[in-house]
Amino acid sequence: MVHRFPCDHPALDFVGTLRGRRFDDPLEMLDGPASLDAWYRESSILDAGPPAGPADLVDAVALREAIYALVAARLFDEERRPADISLINSFARATPAAPQLTPAGRRVEATPAQALATVARAAVDLLGGPDLALLKECQRPECNQVFIDRSRGFRREWCSMTTCGNKVKGATYRARQRGNLAPAT
Ligand SMILES: [Zn+2]
Repeated sequence: MVHRFPCDHPALDFVGTLRGRRFDDPLEMLDGPASLDAWYRESSILDAGPPAGPADLVDAVALREAIYALVAARLFDEERRPADISLINSFARATPAAPQLTPAGRRVEATPAQALATVARAAVDLLGGPDLALLKECQRPECNQVFIDRSRGFRREWCSMTTCGNKVKGATYRARQRGNLAPAT
């Protein structure tokens, strides 16, 4: 696996392909058309189809940033920009990838443009639905992954306990061992 899928939501995991986006040194995971192909396959949006080209990558990054802009508008209580809304809508109007049943299971053959339409539709459902109110940003600075907090009490801090949660807790523990931090009360 090249990419991470901590959120169990294609639109949010897609936004997460720019890791640590509010950190000093973000990591661009969509660094070429092949990385985009890998994301579509690893996310199970498609199993087969023609490879992405440079224009597909430009479209994908444009959609990703429009989704993030609306996510950020929610997180930081800002107005939604109409340009971001219409960009997402234009990709969501395109024909999406169509999953098909096979004797063995499920298979999706689609073009990169269809895969992107699938991501855009997931974004419409998220940004126009009740989960919007549950969005939170991972508290590990190098991550900034936005996730849906379904925890009781709305207290979740990390996009994923197995990655960020354990890393931060491990670092806190080691700092405390060195006497840099006061014990937790
Ligand atoms: Zn995280």
